[in-house]
Amino acid sequence: MKKFLKEHQLSIIFIALALIVALITGIQYVKFRYTEAIFVQGPGVTEMQKLSDYYAPLKGTIGDADIYVLGSQDPNEPSILLLGGTHPNEPSGQLAPLLLMENIELTNGTVYIILETNKSAYTYSFPQEATPEYYSIETPFGSREFKYGARATNAIDQWPIPDIYVHQSTGQKLSGIDTRNLNRAFPGKSNGTYTEKVAQAIVNFVNEKDIILTLDFHEAAPEYAVNNALIYHERARDTNIPAIMRMNLESYWVEYDTRFAPIKL
Ligand SMILES: [Zn+2]
Repeated sequence: MKKFLKEHQLSIIFIALALIVALITGIQYVKFRYTEAIFVQGPGVTEMQKLSDYYAPLKGTIGDADIYVLGSQDPNEPSILLLGGTHPNEPSGQLAPLLLMENIELTNGTVYIILETNKSAYTYSFPQEATPEYYSIETPFGSREFKYGARATNAIDQWPIPDIYVHQSTGQKLSGIDTRNLNRAFPGKSNGTYTEKVAQAIVNFVNEKDIILTLDFHEAAPEYAVNNALIYHERARDTNIPAIMRMNLESYWVEYDTRFAPIKL
């Protein structure tokens, strides 16, 4: 035994160190996975719902995101849906709908807001990108901390990754990693992958609530072509062109707010 220990001294030290590193990072990983983000309900929030209310198989899974309801839910008045956190590595894509959830009070219609649309992607950070787990923002009321996640669903919730991902309703071929990208999973699939199930829940919600407009908030790097842009399906052209004209006219020319970046289509 003594001889064995002496001969393999370096290997034993190396294995012990590897186990310590695995233990520390493992604890950190599990802790982050089950840490719930803290959002303060704004005065306009009238009810809370869950994505699983619209697609039962999500119940009890990590993907069962909260839905903040603002307004009357009167079916005779229009309803819109705001999605934040489709890509949890794009903080402003969550902060914009969060600010609305905390501040708007409606006099008419209903606004539904999901802040962690791909909740599984808030449970880890992408390997080798050295991104933080949390980031904080200083406010007049103190520092606020938010989770920073990954672009795709956690591999724990969806495995394996194919070499090529074939989008199920269009047949479009995409890179394998996009099988875990919620933004490539619509309109979803009820017996599909985890990510397709989340997309299915959102589509069920849109249909059941008769949502007239869904806005999905994202963030892009400065050099990215679709910065400060509204991207829309061509069928939604008649809504989007007047909306963009009004936003640009009011904010830039009427109000003359120089902080405003003109929005492109
Ligand atoms: Zn995005």
